[in-house]
Amino acid sequence: MNNMGSALSTETDAVCKMQIDKGKAKFTSEHKGKEYYFCSLACKKKFDEDPEKYLSFYDSRK
Ligand SMILES: [Zn+2]
Repeated sequence: MNNMGSALSTETDAVCKMQIDKGKAKFTSEHKGKEYYFCSLACKKKFDEDPEKYLSFYDSRK
């Protein structure tokens, strides 16, 4: 096993629920001091238009 990059982590795209590799994410958005990751510009735009709608997804998992 090559342990380099073992800190690799993913975040869930709040819009389409895809797993996003933080190291490769091109589309990010900041909301209330937290960073969110998206698979595409389309998802980022949707989030930016109505962040609260998508944030409920995270709240429901905590
Ligand atoms: Zn997406």
